Amino acid sequence: MNKKRWGLLLRSTPSALRWLGKIAAEEKTALYLVGGAIRDMVLGKRTRDLDLACEGSVKKVASRLSKELSTPFTHYQQFMTATLEGPEESRIDIAETRRETYPAPGALPEVEKASIMEDLYRRDFTVNAMALSLNPRDFGEIIDPTEGMVDLRKRLIRVLHEKSFSDDPTRVFRAVRYAERLGFRIESRTLVQLKGTVEMIHRLSPERLFYELQCISREAGDARVRIIKKLRRLNALSFLGEALKPLSAARLGRIPDDQACEFLCLFLSHFTDEYASRLPVKKACLETTNTLRKVNPVLAKLAGLSSPSSITRFLSTHDKRGLRIISQTSDSKGCRKIKDYLEIYSKVRIKTTGDDLKKMGISPGPRYRRILDDLLDAKLNGVLETKRQETEFVKKKEN
Ligand code: ATP
Repeated sequence: MNKKRWGLLLRSTPSALRWLGKIAAEEKTALYLVGGAIRDMVLGKRTRDLDLACEGSVKKVASRLSKELSTPFTHYQQFMTATLEGPEESRIDIAETRRETYPAPGALPEVEKASIMEDLYRRDFTVNAMALSLNPRDFGEIIDPTEGMVDLRKRLIRVLHEKSFSDDPTRVFRAVRYAERLGFRIESRTLVQLKGTVEMIHRLSPERLFYELQCISREAGDARVRIIKKLRRLNALSFLGEALKPLSAARLGRIPDDQACEFLCLFLSHFTDEYASRLPVKKACLETTNTLRKVNPVLAKLAGLSSPSSITRFLSTHDKRGLRIISQTSDSKGCRKIKDYLEIYSKVRIKTTGDDLKKMGISPGPRYRRILDDLLDAKLNGVLETKRQETEFVKKKEN
């Protein structure tokens, strides 16, 4: 892998971009930098990934770049796209320029090859509908048919046409996400159109809705909390059913930035399982969410428990990640007990095994489980330390 060149590409340095355009030209293809990369460049923000659009064969360009950079690529023929994979999950996405038509609101679009200009007109917001030419003949020229630069300066999120949200209601989530992340305002007519489309959100597939929730969860801490609050005010979260309790911005805000999955679990725990379980959520996340839904009963029960063994017996039936999130996000006294369980008690092991019990002449059966549980309780409560003490403890009990 040519790490140096890859790094320069991800930082969109002029020489790296020029090199990209030259390689594409050699493959008789016009190449453009598109989407968020230009928006972020103008705003002086670090871009997350590099999106390129090509007028010509995406397969040819991707395969040539893959050779030049010594990095693998995947071609998605059906979608007319390709992805080059770099270190640490970094990637460069390339798509053939296209026109999109929506057969029905909320359905996936039908896609045909088209020029870069048409490709820009199918995009979500003006600030995302600009292209930077990488082609040797006009390198650096900005194509901005919808006045995205003007809106960037005015800090506005504006759709390109009045059917934009009804064509694709995921844009409701995208508009709020960009507005809150960038500190932009949703332009007034765009906001009216957005509000008029909110009830179409339920037409989106669970997969697409879940993807939007994942994108929100990956935003930085304070932005993602503001996004959730704003979407709630706009009634854009009603696809999850009635909330079980008021959204707790303070608790959501305490989840560290790099814990997107934890944020999503805590968010989903505000709603019943009935709706959340329709989303393609991994089983482990559903378990975390279930534990988080029980935060109040868990803390209430903990208040009446004091010995390490009783705390362990109770908490061991709950999901550990869920418990960690409760301890991070609640001020209850019970959190100390949860932390002790996670950091100390759950790691305590006894040294006696079933074989040892057999050697002591105890015939195998369900009582083995009881004896071993009693041993663990005693060890947790500080009654036992060495294996010898464990053996004596068993002998005393069994005689
Ligand atoms: P981010 O910083 O969140 O990655 P981005 O602008 O790169 O922002 P992507 O989701 O990677 O966002 O999409 C890349 C580009 O594809 C967008 O800038 C936009 O032009 C276009 N796009 C993505 N999703 C949609 C959509 N639902 N409707 C129209 N255009 C879209």
